[in-house]
Amino acid sequence: MLAGSTILTGIVVIALLDIISLLLGLLTVSGIIAASIIGLVVFHFGGWRWFVILLVFLIISSLFTKFKYSQKRELGIAQGKKGARSWINVVANGFASAGFAIGKSLLPVETVLLGFIGAVSAAFADTLSTEIGILSKSSPRLITNLKRKVPAGTSGGISVLGELSVLISTAILTLAVWAVDLVSFSLTKILFVTLVSGYAGTTTDSLLGATFQAKYSCEICGRIVESKRHCDKPTQHMAGKRILDNNGVNFIATWIGAITAILFQWVAF
Ligand SMILES: [Zn+2]
Repeated sequence: MLAGSTILTGIVVIALLDIISLLLGLLTVSGIIAASIIGLVVFHFGGWRWFVILLVFLIISSLFTKFKYSQKRELGIAQGKKGARSWINVVANGFASAGFAIGKSLLPVETVLLGFIGAVSAAFADTLSTEIGILSKSSPRLITNLKRKVPAGTSGGISVLGELSVLISTAILTLAVWAVDLVSFSLTKILFVTLVSGYAGTTTDSLLGATFQAKYSCEICGRIVESKRHCDKPTQHMAGKRILDNNGVNFIATWIGAITAILFQWVAF
């Protein structure tokens, strides 16, 4: 935990970032509130190094969400609200990180650090593989049946471009963790941890997306979508568990990323 003046610095920094996020349309108002709470928790319990890692994830993810946004919107697969993310999306991706920050004083330091890196790597990898993979020129294939081609944006669909995008998030996160001296591991070890947890997260996301995640059909455009509304109209439930939407899948994927990072440390090092 930090002294009062440091917390004040954190609040000022987060307030500035809130204004920037709002002006750039990176987050909705509810998204900004959720991100501020998670940011403050991570800053207070984890410290500035943890906060910087979370910030790198948020900034780079936002840039890729905005990248070729009009093309994604034409495909009907873009993030709603002009690419701005709402509170539920922020919580789904950031809850595990905040949890590990809070756990820092209760659990072995190495375990929480690995859990935190794994959770961020999973969320980061998943966001980038989705946002970049969507732009793949070739049709994605279903992770549970690679012979089957599915339309871009289909839950559980994977593409070579999407899978390779994980390398970008992994490289950026590795460099960020190393640059701020978050852990005393070597650069190679950080790279391996982020790589396995990143792929564990995206693969979990794709597997759940192909199986248990709720799918709906839009009667207006005929697409199979993951939301209860599309083309400004309610959609019809088709398959999957209604309780498990894309945010629920993201939430689970971050924890799988965290657990993978912790277990990987035991097995490999
Ligand atoms: Zn539609």
